[in-house]
Amino acid sequence: MTLSPPPSSFYQTDVVIIGAGPVGLFAIFECGMLKLKTHVIDALETVGGQCSALYPEKPIYDIPAHPAIEAGQLIERLTEQARPFDPVYHLNQQVVRLKRDDDRAWLVTTSKGTTIKASAVIVAAGGGAFGPNRPPLDNLHLYEQSSVHYYVRNKAHFKGKKVVIAGGGDSAVDWALALHDIAQSVSLVHRRHKFRAAPESLDRLEKLANDGKISLITPYQLSGLEGADGQLEAVRVADLDQNEKTIEADCLLPFFGLSMELGPIQEWGLGLDKNHIAVQSHNMSTTEEGIFAIGDICTYPGKLKLILCGFSEAAFAAHGACRIIRPDELLHFEYSTSKGVP
Ligand code: FAD
Repeated sequence: MTLSPPPSSFYQTDVVIIGAGPVGLFAIFECGMLKLKTHVIDALETVGGQCSALYPEKPIYDIPAHPAIEAGQLIERLTEQARPFDPVYHLNQQVVRLKRDDDRAWLVTTSKGTTIKASAVIVAAGGGAFGPNRPPLDNLHLYEQSSVHYYVRNKAHFKGKKVVIAGGGDSAVDWALALHDIAQSVSLVHRRHKFRAAPESLDRLEKLANDGKISLITPYQLSGLEGADGQLEAVRVADLDQNEKTIEADCLLPFFGLSMELGPIQEWGLGLDKNHIAVQSHNMSTTEEGIFAIGDICTYPGKLKLILCGFSEAAFAAHGACRIIRPDELLHFEYSTSKGVP
């Protein structure tokens, strides 16, 4: 996989694919077979969309030629299949703007300031961009740059810090276990007494709590943040009777799962039909010339939200994009067995 280039850059390519879910990944292959270069953007840090974020270890039974394949494995195979075409991935950034350039190309801009100019755009955005569920705290945004983290990228960042973790699932429990011997203190806040995690993790958590190495703050919910200049100093929590207490904190890690938000896609003038982009099913074209939509985000009569249908839609969209990018070329239909791959 070509690594994400530095943000705030300008690129030019044939096709931008918005969304690196299974369908976006297969679109790289289909474009590649037609000699179209691709850049792929995803809000998540990793490729795979719902398969990676929601059910990587679940077997899927309706992928042709795979009687059963784990969703994570399917993504590995799709990434491998796309690799010969050298896609450039821009991960961990959301597409925020899509607008026409003066010369009828499209300019795609991300939340990190990356701009890509392309003749065609394939929107494979599923149910929308994945992002963390944020706790409903008034001044949260003041601390999101420095003290509130939704992912742990580097454990060392928390060395010697007073860490408050919020949540009751695997991520909250696993990170409490992983950080307790690096951080100065770890407090785990959950609105119930019981946590939902693997039995062996729960056993370790109980032992570390009994030894005073992790503080379990239950049943409490986050109620406020205190600090100055973006640096957190304390987290307020409240029980079900709204009795509050304050925990000293340098950082807060809320782990409340992921959600999908259509977000900026709604403003791109693509004629949304109940949060889906209506397309012509013969080539997946939208109301805007040069923009195609495939996978869960698109709709047409008879649409099935299945990965296998998304794969076929990717082939239609790639051919549609090729006709726009090389309008004078007679597109010969060829089997992959005749053409081969690079
Ligand atoms: P997604 O997988 O949703 O990927 C879209 C990607 O686009 C996401 O990563 C998102 O972050 C990104 N994105 C969206 N907007 C933006 C933006 N503005 N900027 C940057 N990135 C953006 N299907 C089957 O066929 N068989 C099954 O057995 C099956 N089982 C399932 C089990 C579960 C538990 C779930 C949740 C789904 C299942 N599905 C199954 C459905 C299948 O996962 C979806 O149909 C498939 O993931 C759709 O792929 P996609 O590439 O269209 O979208």
